[in-house]
Amino acid sequence: MASFDDELKAALDDRLKQQRYRQRTVSTSPQDARVTVDGKPYLAFANNDYLGLANHPNVVSAFQQAAIEHGVGSGASHLVYGHTHYHHTLENSLARFTGRERALLFSTGYMANMGVISALAGRGDSVYQDRLNHASLIDAGIVSRATMKRYRHNDLKQLEYMLSKDTAKRKFVVVDGVFSMDGDIAPLPALSLLCHRYGAQLMVDDAHGFGVLGDAGGGCAEHFQLSVNELPILVGTLGKAFGTFGAFVAGSTTLIETLIQFARPYIYTTALPPAVAAATCASLSLVESDTHRRKTLHRTIHYFREGATALALPLMESQTPIQPIVLGSDTRVLRAANHLRENGVLVGAIRPPTVPEGTGRLRITLNANHSKADVDRLLELLADVFSSGDKSTSLLSC
Ligand SMILES: *Cc1c(COP(=O)(O)O)cnc(C)c1O
Repeated sequence: MASFDDELKAALDDRLKQQRYRQRTVSTSPQDARVTVDGKPYLAFANNDYLGLANHPNVVSAFQQAAIEHGVGSGASHLVYGHTHYHHTLENSLARFTGRERALLFSTGYMANMGVISALAGRGDSVYQDRLNHASLIDAGIVSRATMKRYRHNDLKQLEYMLSKDTAKRKFVVVDGVFSMDGDIAPLPALSLLCHRYGAQLMVDDAHGFGVLGDAGGGCAEHFQLSVNELPILVGTLGKAFGTFGAFVAGSTTLIETLIQFARPYIYTTALPPAVAAATCASLSLVESDTHRRKTLHRTIHYFREGATALALPLMESQTPIQPIVLGSDTRVLRAANHLRENGVLVGAIRPPTVPEGTGRLRITLNANHSKADVDRLLELLADVFSSGDKSTSLLSC
């Protein structure tokens, strides 16, 4: 009789055959342009620490100081005495930063999305989602029991057509502000107008925009100057450009009070460690005041795109630190990523189901600590992958 393990093993074998078996590496250095992974040094273009704050001395020392004063664990949920003055101060700062009345901390971006959509939408409501939305938004739509309606990436004509036929009581349009695997920015002003026209609520998950877009790092909302009326539900995560951990939702007092009462992933979980909130206060003040980092990052993005264009690499329409190179098949992605890794450079090798079939890609992410020489090295190895010499024929000939 086949055991349960045998049954599981069959699915694992399938994954392996598809070249989609995921493996973890062990890192023994902080996140930075240079990292140590599985005991070897690498130049890395693979994390989301866009401003290089994950290991910034101000952030680290705020974390240490708060741990000394308050210990490590928050010990309880926010509603049952786990909510500390560190959390409270950070929420107030995030509200001011986003120009919203209130902000609410969640333990992760995944949980924030789950909490917001399942608290606001239910059976009989409609949740519209761009096809390329992050998995956490898709999962949240499913959990909410609302009717999920997915439209082609940035296809506002299709979205408008679907909205115009919709008689649901509540309608939500939910998008990534910056698409996590493509790097392009959602057309939020046009989406906001559509929402107003058809009585839908706009929700934006700006995990990759905060810290990066806008003069003060206020993300897509600042980039497009969208007020709370135009963009009522704004989600940000803290594990990317903020360099720490956690997430937040910003909006009206009524929205935030609704989430406190009804968002189960807010209510039934332990509050973030207070030291994480304290560290995030320090990183928020760097995001706002250290505009030099953001400028350097944008210069680096520009430098990479110029170099890649000169090499005729297939760039995507992205002004953000996410610069994917679509290669297509899983085999090509793995060969290209291995070639880079064997030469000391790490990039993400992203395959389905994270991206649609046939659009496997190298996900290159730039950060404020990369030098021009770092980018030159990356471009040199990418040029190998695409060059028509013998080596490349074998690299991309599949
Ligand atoms: C990373 C990410 C999340 C998840 O955030 P976590 O805090 O890591 O759980 C949600 N949405 C988008 C678009 C993301 O890129």
